[in-house]
Amino acid sequence: MSLSSGHSYLAIPGPSAVPDRVLNAMHRASPNIYAGPLIDMVDTLYPDLKSVARTTGDVAIYMGNGHAAWEASLSNLFSRGDKILVLATGAFGLGWAEAAQGLGINAEVMDFGKRDTISMARVHDRLSADTAREIKAVLAVHVDTATSVRNDIRGLRACINASGHPALLMVDCIASLACDRFEMDAWGVDVAIVASQKGLMMPPGLCFVYFNKKADEVHKYAGLVSPYWNWTPRTRAPELFRKFCGTAPTAHLLGLRESLDMIVHEQGMASVWARHETLATAVWAALDCWGTTGSIAMNIADPAWRSCAVTTVAINPPLGTRLRVWVEEHTGVTLGISLGMALADDPAWHGFFRIAHMGHVNAHMTLGALACIDAGLKALDIDHGQGAVEAATKAIAAAVNAANS
Ligand SMILES: *Cc1c(COP(=O)(O)O)cnc(C)c1O
Repeated sequence: MSLSSGHSYLAIPGPSAVPDRVLNAMHRASPNIYAGPLIDMVDTLYPDLKSVARTTGDVAIYMGNGHAAWEASLSNLFSRGDKILVLATGAFGLGWAEAAQGLGINAEVMDFGKRDTISMARVHDRLSADTAREIKAVLAVHVDTATSVRNDIRGLRACINASGHPALLMVDCIASLACDRFEMDAWGVDVAIVASQKGLMMPPGLCFVYFNKKADEVHKYAGLVSPYWNWTPRTRAPELFRKFCGTAPTAHLLGLRESLDMIVHEQGMASVWARHETLATAVWAALDCWGTTGSIAMNIADPAWRSCAVTTVAINPPLGTRLRVWVEEHTGVTLGISLGMALADDPAWHGFFRIAHMGHVNAHMTLGALACIDAGLKALDIDHGQGAVEAATKAIAAAVNAANS
């Protein structure tokens, strides 16, 4: 017997659930890309994208995924041999550094491990030691989707300023935008990169590079700028075919209009952030409960460094994989695999799974996923603390009462 037939839920940290409204908006006959309503509609996307990231800077839209955003941001700013400092707190920081090295950029990686946030003291020391000011930029991931750490970007800017270093601050917000609070201008971020398939509730296929005037100045001297990635026509050209360096991704742009309507105009950023925070609190309450006995533990122990978009869970291997497979087979909920915590051929790989609470997610989806995990723990006779679902419902009830009082 399987209880998985019904509405399935892909609770992995990207691609996230896409609202039916967004899918329906994409389901259109090809619109004219040379004249007519599409042209005006695309112009309306930019101010809304900027308000999601809280910036008055520019935003370039590309066809591409997160890896494309990595490459777009790098090629717009650097030349071969330029030095940058990449702060890694999981697989995604390492990935951005690899992309840079592949382009011939001299990327120095400062690795903070898989269970911790950035050490500001180490960054401060490294920047202070760079008296020749060789480091052109500091790159950090806001939420590393592999470890589920959320780094303090505002604090990182303060740290760079305190060291008196002029480096640009570049941030990967692919997992965090429209989930965890992010304020590009107020936090002093010069470049932010985003992809469509996470908090923006879209299928994969679009990516975004936000940049401010300081970054645009650096761009003028970049030797790696290529015709396709060049952000100047993307943000300055009046014609659609030049904004997109060819045919625009029409269906995706129509979908994005709908998702931005939901995020910016119907819900508002404060409410989007509050929903993610509340759902994350419910997930953590359940995990605290499960972890009172047995081997279940959150990968990031300190709540201050946990993301509101995804939670990485550690459990004795191979129970992570067994539980994930059981939950998918029997309940229709797909949990995230272990990513970057151990090599895939290492038995330790089976000691992690991830619960996404990212994007188009509401209380019944998150509580449902938690209840299904709880059922799996019981069915597989995995040692765990009792009362986790109750703890999650209490967390939700308390948050709703607090918000309405
Ligand atoms: C998902 C993700 C990426 C990579 O995105 P792809 O679309 O898979 O290339 C990069 N960084 C972060 C933080 C992510 O969450």
